[in-house]
Amino acid sequence: MFTTSVVGSFSRPKFLIDAFDDFSKGKVTKEQLEELLQDATKLIVKEEELAGLDVITDGEQRRTSFVSFVGQKIAGFKPVHIKELRPDALEVLRREKVQLTYWRAVATEPLKDSVIALDELQYSKTITDRQIKITLPSPYLVMWETWHSERSRAVYPEPEDLAKDYAKILRREILRLKDAGVAFVQLDEPMLGDLVEASETEPDRYRRVIEQIHGQKYRGFREEARLARDLVNEAVQGVQGVRIGMHMDRWPNADSPNYGVGYEKLFPEVLDIKVKQFVLEYASPGSGDPVRFAEALDGQEMALGVVQVMDRRVEEPQEIVSRAEGLAKLLGPERVWLVPDCGFAPGMYRGFPKSVAFAKLKSMVAAAGILRKKFS
Ligand SMILES: [Zn+2]
Repeated sequence: MFTTSVVGSFSRPKFLIDAFDDFSKGKVTKEQLEELLQDATKLIVKEEELAGLDVITDGEQRRTSFVSFVGQKIAGFKPVHIKELRPDALEVLRREKVQLTYWRAVATEPLKDSVIALDELQYSKTITDRQIKITLPSPYLVMWETWHSERSRAVYPEPEDLAKDYAKILRREILRLKDAGVAFVQLDEPMLGDLVEASETEPDRYRRVIEQIHGQKYRGFREEARLARDLVNEAVQGVQGVRIGMHMDRWPNADSPNYGVGYEKLFPEVLDIKVKQFVLEYASPGSGDPVRFAEALDGQEMALGVVQVMDRRVEEPQEIVSRAEGLAKLLGPERVWLVPDCGFAPGMYRGFPKSVAFAKLKSMVAAAGILRKKFS
């Protein structure tokens, strides 16, 4: 009942950010960087254990960004600075109030089957006995983030061609992770979550920005939802014996016409995505009502975002209890997990004070204790 976990990332310690920079300048060797990566991972894993979490991650310490790291792992992607894709890219981001990773993984060669996160799992298993969650970028997200109209077209004429190739690699990686004993594979799909902000004819701000910087084209609301569904289903097809979840974000602006509208706007397609668990942001204001989404579920679990990852105020356990209670009455306490809204640092340079993150997690674990008593 009320399994506690995280969405994925934690702030990188300063020594690690410095080491990444020094490594790119050739001032730090691969062995030296590896040792610091292991140190940083040990710190985070220990912190998650001390907070009392049931299912933990490695804090994504090895990744420079939750999506662009595929560029370092999978042969076929090339890291390209956003200004090389469009000289005035930073102005576009400012104008649309959107944050994108500056170093972008762009598909320039056919993708080759490669390990994406198996190495992360293998290392984590040497330092903890807890159940381990591995997060992986979803194929629909990777399609929008990495296909470029000029640079990718020679190898992948359409973005969908790239996405299908990536989905195949993803499926193989999920099977590898399963064989290595992963407890949970989470597919990160913020792009589908952002679609809540779009209309049939008008894309949301993220797609609008990528249209301008990557030369992609919005297909319309329904077609986008269908495509996301089909791509995820292709990646998880026939995979059994491992819990697979999908994470979506909202981050609505206060002046958005969709403020307060939840992921139910993605019905029915989202409900046909064959995952065991939906990991959803609900603590941040304007994200909608989780009950509206949960009412339509058919046996799946929901990991409910109960603490915010931008706001530094530490939520009280009682506040978290009241957020989760109604949902647990509807779904049953075994189908409700408690998580923060999102990763605490999806990109390496995005810092969130670790002491605050730790206090929030402690509060969440305390709430799980109260809820377990209430429901047993
Ligand atoms: Zn997220």
